[in-house]
Amino acid sequence: MSGSNDHIDDKARRYGKQAIVAAAERLQSGGLVAVPTETVYGLAADSTNASAIAEIYRTKGRPDFNPLIVHVPDLDSARKLGLFDGLAIQLAEGFWPGPLTIVVPKAPDSIVAPAVTAGLDTIALRCPAHPLMQELLKVSGLFLAAPSANKSGSVSPTIAQHVKSSLGDLTPMILDGGACKSGIESTIVAVRGENYQILRQGPITLEDLETSIGKTGITADFEQIESPGQLLSHYAPTKPVRLDVTRANIQEFHIGFGAIAGHYNLSGAGDLAEAASHLFSAMHLADSSDKSAIAVAPIPKYGIGRAINDRLTRAAT
Ligand code: AMP
Ligand code: MG
Repeated sequence: MSGSNDHIDDKARRYGKQAIVAAAERLQSGGLVAVPTETVYGLAADSTNASAIAEIYRTKGRPDFNPLIVHVPDLDSARKLGLFDGLAIQLAEGFWPGPLTIVVPKAPDSIVAPAVTAGLDTIALRCPAHPLMQELLKVSGLFLAAPSANKSGSVSPTIAQHVKSSLGDLTPMILDGGACKSGIESTIVAVRGENYQILRQGPITLEDLETSIGKTGITADFEQIESPGQLLSHYAPTKPVRLDVTRANIQEFHIGFGAIAGHYNLSGAGDLAEAASHLFSAMHLADSSDKSAIAVAPIPKYGIGRAINDRLTRAAT
């Protein structure tokens, strides 16, 4: 862990402690809290409380076949919920705390509410690096189920205001930690015996995984929708989206990259990590602009650019 708090704004720093205790109490009594992580804002609840989990699905309008990621403070905690063998341990030790979700077989004595895993015999676990979320896990003593804090199928929130504009009257208490650092949902990797399979592209890149594990992951033989994040129309703004556009039409809001400035440039320097952190803000901005459509400049398809293009393709579908 970097130990850096630089993505927490001054406001959060000032009232952080008190807010974390209040949030922990709310979670312990079965309530929901929107929390910042290094990826996007999550809608958190006690993963062992069935009615709190039902409230997450209701608030998001999330289909009940779409399982939730459970957040834990460390690998020891993760082992109470899922079975970690050699490769799973290697992944956790290599990338936790951080934006990697690991799908492993559910532990036989796992205490999470059945709805969390949507009936699957596997469980998705992540140890987040964000200091606010880490502290909340420790202070509450809970394992927190937390999908993105937005209506199902829409663009994920990367600032507190996005949570409010997506959830409206159903918005719970929000721990405001400022803008999320990665700005794109976690990479999801499933452990398949001696091998691994990427179920969702994210901030931990294919290159990162190959370097750390020392081999390439397996790809599915057929298009099996195991992770609903793989559904094509997901992460969608309300307006039509056109990709790889160097020159936009007059009715389009142009999201730029590098030398193509557009109305909003994801990264003038052409930095992919910076572009990822600005992607959802750009989509929210484009969606609420007076333009009727969205055009996006070409983004390189390597490193974290893969995750960016993955989200853009879904937004355009
Ligand atoms: P979200 O929390 O909105 O980022 O979505 C969580 C993603 O994790 C969804 O696409 C889920 O389908 C995926 N997920 C959660 N649990 C599992 C699991 N046991 N196996 C495969 N994917 C999972
Ligand atoms: Mg989501």
